[in-house]
Amino acid sequence: MRFDTAQYRRKEVELQRVDSIMRMLPSHAEQVLEAGCREGYITLKLAGIYPSVTALDLNMPGIVHPRVACVQGDIKALDFPDKSFDLVICTEVLEHIPPQKLEKACAELLRVTRRYLLIGVPFRQDLRVHATRCIHCGSINPTTGHVNSFDLQQLMSLFGNMPFSRTEYPGRGVYKTNRLSYAVYERFGFPYGSYQQEEPCINCGKHLEKPRLSFPARLACLFAKGLEFIQNKTGPSRSPVWIHVLWDITGQDSF
Ligand SMILES: [Zn+2]
Repeated sequence: MRFDTAQYRRKEVELQRVDSIMRMLPSHAEQVLEAGCREGYITLKLAGIYPSVTALDLNMPGIVHPRVACVQGDIKALDFPDKSFDLVICTEVLEHIPPQKLEKACAELLRVTRRYLLIGVPFRQDLRVHATRCIHCGSINPTTGHVNSFDLQQLMSLFGNMPFSRTEYPGRGVYKTNRLSYAVYERFGFPYGSYQQEEPCINCGKHLEKPRLSFPARLACLFAKGLEFIQNKTGPSRSPVWIHVLWDITGQDSF
């Protein structure tokens, strides 16, 4: 089964994420950059508000709209002069950037905005949940290629501890695992991993495939899953799913 983008967009937590982004958008901006636009879901909403939107992704985006200019590029080395945009938006991207390149990517986003920067990432994500093992190279992949987990302090430090204008924490009830369940999954090759994800193996770049389990292995994994289920149903964890931060680097609209 492949990842169903349309179905994902209808999920409650995704609707809350997008609503939050829309609420946090500054009212005045002319030139907008969406860094990491994927299929253009947010881009088209931005084009409904702002006169000029540049949609950038690693692969050339195919978004057709009179106010949208598509650009192929990498946020770790943006091909724009300093302060090219009034607003730079980057959501669901930084969690995928290799940790050693994260500071550079954040510096690039900051460099090309002349006023606003809106960042969205998963909040304190348990990167062990839905981990996968690549059957080609044997490496363990965190879920959907997420290699970084964030809280407000980490995000602030990545952006020079600038005072922010607004922050929101959309979604509730982030799913967690535990050491025992994780150990069982690891022993049997992570059968409940996010194998339907679009992202390939972070190590070898090949497509991830679900392992086949023997009956006893399946039982052990079901036990681990049950344990995880009880943990998430009874635990105090109502932690937010996302964190969004808006900065105004001119300081005119900051706390
Ligand atoms: Zn691999």
